Amino acid sequence: MENGKRRGPGNILFVIMILGLLAGMWYTNRWDSNAKRLTYQEFEKIVEDQKVEDVVIIQNNDVPTGRVKLTRSDDDAQWVLNVSDVNEVCQFLREENVEYTMTDVPGEDWFASAIYPIVVMLMGVLLLLFIMNRQAGAGNKAMNFGKSRAKMHDGSDKKVTFADVAGLQEEKEELEEIVDFLKAPKKYIQVGARIPKGVLLVGPPGTGKTLLAKAVAGEAGVPFFTISGSDFVEMFVGVGASRVRDLFADAKKNAPCIIFIDEIDAVARRRGTGMGGGHDEREQTLNQLLVEMDGFGVNEGIIVMSATNRVDILDPAILRPGRFDRKVGVGRPDVKGREEILKVHAKGKPLGDDVDLKQIAQTTSGFSGADLENLLNEAAIYAAKDNRVFLRQDDIRRAFVKVGIGAEKKSKVVSEKEKKITAYHEAGHAVLFHVLPDVGPVYSVSIIPTGMGAAGYTMPLPEKNEMFNTKGRMLQDITVALGGRIAEEIIFDDITTGASQDIKQATATARAMVTKYGMSDKIGLINYDSDNDEVFIGRDLAHAQRSYGEQIAGMIDEEVKNIVDTCYKRARHIIEKYHFALEACAQLLLEKEKITREEFEALFEGVEISED
Ligand code: ADP
Ligand code: MG
Ligand code: ZN
Repeated sequence: MENGKRRGPGNILFVIMILGLLAGMWYTNRWDSNAKRLTYQEFEKIVEDQKVEDVVIIQNNDVPTGRVKLTRSDDDAQWVLNVSDVNEVCQFLREENVEYTMTDVPGEDWFASAIYPIVVMLMGVLLLLFIMNRQAGAGNKAMNFGKSRAKMHDGSDKKVTFADVAGLQEEKEELEEIVDFLKAPKKYIQVGARIPKGVLLVGPPGTGKTLLAKAVAGEAGVPFFTISGSDFVEMFVGVGASRVRDLFADAKKNAPCIIFIDEIDAVARRRGTGMGGGHDEREQTLNQLLVEMDGFGVNEGIIVMSATNRVDILDPAILRPGRFDRKVGVGRPDVKGREEILKVHAKGKPLGDDVDLKQIAQTTSGFSGADLENLLNEAAIYAAKDNRVFLRQDDIRRAFVKVGIGAEKKSKVVSEKEKKITAYHEAGHAVLFHVLPDVGPVYSVSIIPTGMGAAGYTMPLPEKNEMFNTKGRMLQDITVALGGRIAEEIIFDDITTGASQDIKQATATARAMVTKYGMSDKIGLINYDSDNDEVFIGRDLAHAQRSYGEQIAGMIDEEVKNIVDTCYKRARHIIEKYHFALEACAQLLLEKEKITREEFEALFEGVEISED
């Protein structure tokens, strides 16, 4: 260990410092020790009594203070007196007609009065640092307090490339242009292209965000500074900000390069939410980060990448143009992705001929890349315990039980039954998106659990970005939201709690139509909405008040219910009519876990779409 080596010379240094201090103390005291001190009154008295044999005034030119050495005519002793203003003393002596000599601070004394205190101070500081350093173990905390803790990797240590990142095809394609820019920035600057300064990787833990960032650096062959958001958050105000400054200064010296801030949510949390008092330190750090990101120009060759699994709590300022304006979602892998990840991590682990990675991929729905890597590792440990040099399917099965139970807490292991329910649920949404005229089309449907706790998602691709939401469209939004639950009802004859978010959203939309947008004839054009779109804890909670009576409240609730009921009937009708598509979509989802727009639309081929 490094510590052991250090201790030897360290102890000698320690002894030298102590000896130095002692020697210094003796040295300063030596001169004064055989001289006696005078007060100014005594001095005046001696002079006025004419008992002076000899006076020497010692003064350093730059300062008014000095020292008077006096020999009395009536004894042999040396007397000294420190004075604050030499000129005053000189004048007094002249008035009394006493001869005196002025000398500059003599060599030895000068050392004692000027250099020595500095030396002592330096030694003291060194000693302090030395002790702190030892207490911090091998750490360098005391020395590098405000220094960035970023670790720099240049291309020399083992490189991560895109080949090491399995699956994540679309994500890699998006990052490809960043790699290209870092490799040949001229090409882009020539044609005036603006390359994003910041790329935010968003996704659940263990899905390969850190790995992707490293791969970008590896592919481009540029230095890579990595630091974790929590490294910025220190006990002392200002340290984080100074670390940020330092990090960017280092990066500028090494451009083109990548700065990677892992777990950025630790610093970039929404400011001023007032939770738990002021978080001065974090806010300062975040402000500094924003300043630095605004400070370097476009195409300066620094790309700031960062990763988080909590994009919802980030300060919106961080997502503004010129900062992290590129967002890349890194999701949990689908069946195919899982198989590829298993293949990557099976390298270096000889597999027996009974191992079927495809089958493992199918049973590990909900596993992240890190979970899969862990799975194979555990399997390898089982194999080694059995003194085998290859893995069997059975090792993996045993490992699955072990990590599956552990993984249940962090990610979600999905049972076949849950998977089936989710598939029909999402298919219900998807069919409605497709059939209803003003929503959709469906961009992708997935039953891979997301980091935010949803069992799956159906993502529409809004084609036109309209300024106004119409009543018709809002009704269709509600209809789509109810589709998941309806599909569950139709297929399973029972319902789950999985639709709570949908129901919440449908209700919220219906309520806004009634209380905010005047879309209900019965209620009319009156705003009954208290405008608390975003209730932050600690800010607006106290204001959430109702400003209307019971009767109106009852009418509002009734209208909301009417809207939701009408939409429910409409949704049920459509899903029953296109039952074949619901079925086909669910089956395809069970097989592939994630389907694209093309695959989904193919299900409707040759079918005429109409609501009734
Ligand atoms: P994150 O930063 O998203 O939490 P990491 O990038 O740290 O996740 O991934 C942890 C580990 O999981 C990686 O070191 C790698 O071994 C494995 N892993 C995750 N995703 C992938 C992937 N797509 N391909 C290969 N390995 C992966
Ligand atoms: Mg990470
Ligand atoms: Zn749903």
